[in-house]
Amino acid sequence: MKKLAILGSTGSIGTQALDVVRDQPDRFQVELLTCGNRVELLIQQALEFNPNAVVIGDPAKLELVKEALFPKGIKVYAGPEALEQAVTMEGIDLVLTALVGYAGLRPTLAAIEAGKTIALANKETLVVAGELVTAAARAKGVNIYPVDSEHSAIFQCLAGEWHNPIEKIVLTASGGPFRGRTREQLATVTKAQALKHPNWDMGAKITIDSASLMNKGLEAIEAKWLFDLKREQIEIIVHPQSIIHSIVQFRDGSMKAQMGLPDMKLPIQYAMAYPERLATTWPRFDFARYPALTFEPPDLDTFRNLALALEALDTGGNAPCVLNAANEVAVELFLQDRIGFLEMSDLVAHCLATVPHINAPTLPDLEASDAEARRLAREHTLSAWRS
Ligand code: NAD
Ligand code: MG
Repeated sequence: MKKLAILGSTGSIGTQALDVVRDQPDRFQVELLTCGNRVELLIQQALEFNPNAVVIGDPAKLELVKEALFPKGIKVYAGPEALEQAVTMEGIDLVLTALVGYAGLRPTLAAIEAGKTIALANKETLVVAGELVTAAARAKGVNIYPVDSEHSAIFQCLAGEWHNPIEKIVLTASGGPFRGRTREQLATVTKAQALKHPNWDMGAKITIDSASLMNKGLEAIEAKWLFDLKREQIEIIVHPQSIIHSIVQFRDGSMKAQMGLPDMKLPIQYAMAYPERLATTWPRFDFARYPALTFEPPDLDTFRNLALALEALDTGGNAPCVLNAANEVAVELFLQDRIGFLEMSDLVAHCLATVPHINAPTLPDLEASDAEARRLAREHTLSAWRS
């Protein structure tokens, strides 16, 4: 029986993780559930899975949650500090980080410090502080199992290959809803169009990142830290069917790919049950429905966010943290209809060029870079409106 903490239990990954728990009641027990502010769903989940504790991000909602869960003997806390504390609770074996954005960094570090195994969905944590997080995990002997489908694919391809060096990895990308479009066309795309992903049903932030290909850039940085790779060892290829989830190439030239229908429950369950594969009744791949699997290079001129992310990967230091902060603000402004699709890249480029570079940032350095990039991104948007 593995005892789980699910951070971001009300989101796309969080609810699918609970589907896995529901299917495998002899394997998993929920100890902690947390979310940002979707109180009703959090309460409903807690009543079903009976965790030891829940944390609600928004302190204004604390009383409401307490009223519902206190009588059931479930502890209720609120706010980011409480989240950092709760993940260290005795009795938690594995922490699934399924919250979105920079907010995942501190609780993930706290969980590692407390020696908890990590199932990592929150890629932003490794983008912002890959060096610190992987160093902390090594120091504590903590394993980080990837949940992101591409990284899970690579992890699955590496089973039994630990002593064989990786020549390169190939991260596959669906290309998103705007594959094949020109910059002129991208200038006028709407939020509703960007939120319609062809193959995956995900939270709003990652769906926009997938449309702009920023997601693949973040994943390249995530892969660098998870698998200890250099930039030259990471190739990105657009594969619109999303059946091959990624590829590892070894030094003899052999390539191993992991395939399957696009369903996040598989990588979520693999990370939760590792090293075991648990039986499922999910739909199986049918060759008749996929007569062709196709591949094409990504268009870095049109999808500038991917080029910017790869540039930040090359630069290193605090550059990926700045990229991430600027992008989080850009996505938020785009989702509020306050900037256009292409302006997201302008904001990211502006912040990357403006925030001073730090070569080997400490956690306080990263916090300062994050804050500075957010401030600059908002200021840049305001001055663009005024002129
Ligand atoms: P989502 O928006 O659907 O859910 C996010 C969850 O985090 C919610 O429970 C929300 O309440 C909580 N949350 C948000 N902000 C918070 C804060 N400041 N403090 C505490 N909790 C907060 O997002 P998602 O699509 O499930 O993605 C979660 C993470 O997993 C992201 O980092 C994403 O990049 C990654 N990921 C998602 C998918 C997917 O299929 N959805 C695939 C690969 C990776
Ligand atoms: Mg992915």
